Amino acid sequence: MSKNLRHGFKAYAERKSLELRKALNLFAHQYMPARKLATHLGVRIVSPLSIKGLTQNAIEAITDPDSGFSAVTILAQPTPFIIYNHKHTPARQESDLMHELAHLIEDHSPVSFTMMGKLPCRSFNPSHESEAEWLGGCLQICRDGLVWAIREGLSDSEIAEHFGASLEMVQFRRRMTGVDRQIQRNRR
Ligand SMILES: [Zn+2]
Repeated sequence: MSKNLRHGFKAYAERKSLELRKALNLFAHQYMPARKLATHLGVRIVSPLSIKGLTQNAIEAITDPDSGFSAVTILAQPTPFIIYNHKHTPARQESDLMHELAHLIEDHSPVSFTMMGKLPCRSFNPSHESEAEWLGGCLQICRDGLVWAIREGLSDSEIAEHFGASLEMVQFRRRMTGVDRQIQRNRR
């Protein structure tokens, strides 16, 4: 997945995560809730349950575990909004929302629209998907925050809890950022 990323994007994503944390008066090691970031960016977060005109059947269909639905951004005026799958775990919702926010932060242009009921939903090219995937993870757990957590002696599940992230996300970030190697080196 990360091989699709353009040169320098990973370092940029870390800077972006720190910059947005700073705007919210948060340190690198603090949890940045996706909903708080959305408010800062002027994006509304909407549960399918609160969308007028979606029938109970439609709601069941899109939030069914087999539907594969995570979240989708609707470019509405005056503010865009993100519809998310309220049946996902809170940790999964965080990553779903951060992914969508990453597309908005990067101002990715959709390559096509598919209709979800009467709502136009965007889809992106693979490199933009990779960027949103990567930046979304950085927004949840930035590298400096991860280094802090490991030095504090937190276990993976404690790190997950601390950042409101899934265990898989913690393990993914540890693996991909090489923080453990960095900490080992500094200890020698
Ligand atoms: Zn995406």
